[in-house]
Amino acid sequence: ATVRKIAAGEVVERPASVVKELVENSLDADADRIDVTVENGGTERIAVSDDGIGMSEDDVRAAVREHTTSKIEDAADLQAGVTTLGFRGEALHTIGAVARTTITTKPRGGDRGTELRMEGGEVESVGPAGCPEGTTVEVTDLFYNTPARRKYLKTTTTEFSHVNTVVTRYALANPDVAVSLTHDGREVFATTGRGDLQSALLSVYGREVATAMIPVEGESDGAVSVSGYVSDPETTRSTREYVSTYVNGRYVSSPVVRDAVLSAYGGQLSAERYPFAVLFLDVAPDEVDVNVHPRKMECRWSDESAVKEAVGTEVEDALLDHGL
Ligand code: ADP
Ligand code: MG
Repeated sequence: ATVRKIAAGEVVERPASVVKELVENSLDADADRIDVTVENGGTERIAVSDDGIGMSEDDVRAAVREHTTSKIEDAADLQAGVTTLGFRGEALHTIGAVARTTITTKPRGGDRGTELRMEGGEVESVGPAGCPEGTTVEVTDLFYNTPARRKYLKTTTTEFSHVNTVVTRYALANPDVAVSLTHDGREVFATTGRGDLQSALLSVYGREVATAMIPVEGESDGAVSVSGYVSDPETTRSTREYVSTYVNGRYVSSPVVRDAVLSAYGGQLSAERYPFAVLFLDVAPDEVDVNVHPRKMECRWSDESAVKEAVGTEVEDALLDHGL
């Protein structure tokens, strides 16, 4: 049990980590619609509902089972850094170990729904449920049984802002999926799933930001193609610097891209004019490694200067086109 709790603590750090795993599962399940509902920043309740392929009773029983026994043998492994490799196939199991979890699911085209309830790592009940096709995972009282973890949770505002960041990233990276986020009964945003980045930006950031954004239309002349939107520093006021980068459809944290964007603005940025950019890079898979550190979302480029060059050029061109 100790090992299980330590392992869970590593993958489930805060409500946003639960949300991330559940939304990824919904995307893996081919969902066209994902609704994320949280209460109290997610500390009280998280529910992620999708219209994906769903699960049969056998599927859902298997989904919460402990898949790996060899990954973490003991605490020494944890210290040796084994945990940083990530936990494939462990998310539902580990979430189930540190919260009260209910999964309600029905396979596409199936005639029977199933509800599975878990508490503290044990399956409490499995039974039939009347539910639509797709899956809803509800996680309440996160860390109720790990008081040390619970103590580290921050304020509702902070925890919610992490949740918002995560859901926003997936909504922008998947504009063809209708993603909604609701906090304490209030809808924060809902994308249409129409498929274009601009309508997703509009849903997430509002009209004022979306209409002032300048498109970056990367023509793929080299190994890297860059597209997306950057802000006009004259009209868009971001409360902080914000450059989000997606590589081959996946969010990454990239200082290289960020620096290239900032320098493309040249001397136009003053203290209260923060740039705001959402950029999608298409890169040949052998030019980038996005699995350096899955949880930190770092990536390693095989040719860093080519990336810098491509991003710098495309963003400069976009700004120039708008007389900036
Ligand atoms: P992983 O995603 O790495 O396989 P998880 O613990 O996150 O591990 O999920 C275990 C399994 O449960 C998935 O492989 C999938 O088969 C099933 N599953 C989880 N969430 C969903 C969902 N929303 N819809 C359909 N199947 C799901
Ligand atoms: Mg998963």
